[in-house]
Amino acid sequence: GNKPSPNFIRHIVAEDTKTGKWGGRVVTRFPPEPNGYLHIGHAKSICLNFGIAKEYEGGKCHLRFDDTNPTKEDEEYKEAIIEDVKWLGFDWGENLFHASDYFERLYEFAVQLIKSGKAYVCDLSPEEVRQYRGTLTEPGKNSPYRERSVEENLDLFERMRAGEFPDGSRLLRAKIDMASPKLILRDPALYRIRKVRHERTGDKWCIYPMYDFAHCLSDSLERITHSICTLEFEDNRALYDWVLDALEVYHSQQIEFARLNLDFTIMSKRKLLQLVEQKYVSGWDDPRMPTISGLRRRGFTPESIRNFCERIGVGKKDSWIGIDKLENAIREDLNTKTPRVMGILRPLKLVIDNYPDDLVEELEAPYFPDDPPKMGFRKVPFSKELYVEQTDFMEEPFKKFWRLAPGREVRLRWAYFVTCTHVVKDEETGEILEVHCTYDPETKGGDAPDGRKVKGTIHWVSAAHSVPVEVRLYDRLFEVARPGEGGKDFVEDLNANSLETLPESRVERSLGQAKPGERYQFERTGYFCVDTKDSAEDHLVFNRIVTLRDTWAK
Ligand code: ATP
Ligand code: MG
Ligand code: MG
Repeated sequence: GNKPSPNFIRHIVAEDTKTGKWGGRVVTRFPPEPNGYLHIGHAKSICLNFGIAKEYEGGKCHLRFDDTNPTKEDEEYKEAIIEDVKWLGFDWGENLFHASDYFERLYEFAVQLIKSGKAYVCDLSPEEVRQYRGTLTEPGKNSPYRERSVEENLDLFERMRAGEFPDGSRLLRAKIDMASPKLILRDPALYRIRKVRHERTGDKWCIYPMYDFAHCLSDSLERITHSICTLEFEDNRALYDWVLDALEVYHSQQIEFARLNLDFTIMSKRKLLQLVEQKYVSGWDDPRMPTISGLRRRGFTPESIRNFCERIGVGKKDSWIGIDKLENAIREDLNTKTPRVMGILRPLKLVIDNYPDDLVEELEAPYFPDDPPKMGFRKVPFSKELYVEQTDFMEEPFKKFWRLAPGREVRLRWAYFVTCTHVVKDEETGEILEVHCTYDPETKGGDAPDGRKVKGTIHWVSAAHSVPVEVRLYDRLFEVARPGEGGKDFVEDLNANSLETLPESRVERSLGQAKPGERYQFERTGYFCVDTKDSAEDHLVFNRIVTLRDTWAK
């Protein structure tokens, strides 16, 4: 189920609603920087912010593009973010905002701080600013520009805006405390000069607000109640609160939670971008990527991702989550939703010598054997020449291999018992070309009238009636649980075998018209999804979403 699980943030919101702290309002926001595609870590934040808003009458969650950083942003990213949040099942209604829409008001707030003696223009070089800041164990030193008059500061700040000074030559800084035990409060920068064109505001600005100034004020302007962010912003909270207090404006409450880290993957947009740019993957939506678009293309459902995000919980301590939790979430969701069909990943020809040459039987098979009426039936053609999986035959079977082997009888799913008589090999290479069998016509439907049992049931397709397709099998993108650990370049930890392409797979006839995005369980081999990019009517491409828990025969 989709029931929200209790967590400390939900508890805070519930308490606030009870006490009427925010006048009964619940307004959260999800504030991505449009400098990359969203990943599964963002999904955690989306589910939390939009999820909480949904739980209260009149609750709202804003989608805010945090686009205060002018160089790295891109329209493509914004569109992708919008698509991904919608696909996850959330809706911001009218409440789509851009932090850059607040540039004029942020400027006015900065002027207000200068007028009240709480901000000053500083001419120290970036290197000097660093030196003056001090360390965790040593207090910093006041900037020689700290005592400038309000008039001088106003004049200089206006001229900064007018473009009179080069990049990096001056900063607007908050005047707080150079001896504060919190480094973030040692006169942090509020504005810097960057003569860079902004995607939305064009050349209007050459000074841009810093994150710590823009973010809290954006929250305040939008009258956000609970500003939920990840733990690395815990120290920033002191500055968040200082700015809002100094300006005596509406004061949203910042609450931090532990970010999602997933084993065998990476979450940093910068690193994901590197994988895309250096072509380690086919794009942001490569089905191996931990991006929402990658997971979607792989075949994940929005429900599975939402369930995963609920299940991992929301805490205050950083931790790593096993990727099996994500895989289980999708398995569980698809288990009840997907039709069962037969597909052969690596075909091996099977010939039934005593089956009539031209006979084709149309066998009835349920799409959902556990509850056949639920999804109905389809006809599966059966004939003398079939394909089975190469892995379902062993010439010299190991102990407990219950599938096909010389002299061995097995059940063909929905069809007959067959007994292997011999194999035909390529004379030169020794490769097995055909497995020959006889079938028992009395066992039609899969049971023997004399009550004899077989230990293995294998799947198959009719050679002449099946559809050739391409199948793509995915493995973890990285070989190690913590890519890049120990100072290594994370790229060195990539799994060279994360994609296996099978160009000669076969699926049963009923899948011939499968549409992009459709999901199926191929019996015994996993859940598959028709690729939305590379699949065509005459060349179907199936992505394996995830394996079944148990890929061995019953
Ligand atoms: P990156 O470091 O990958 O660039 P970011 O945090 O800078 O990520 P933003 O676009 O600023 O990316 O993120 C938007 C929101 O998503 C923020 O509120 C951030 O806290 C949240 N978020 C980002 N990564 C994670 C994660 N791994 N787990 C939970 N929330 C996350
Ligand atoms: Mg950020
Ligand atoms: Mg970032």
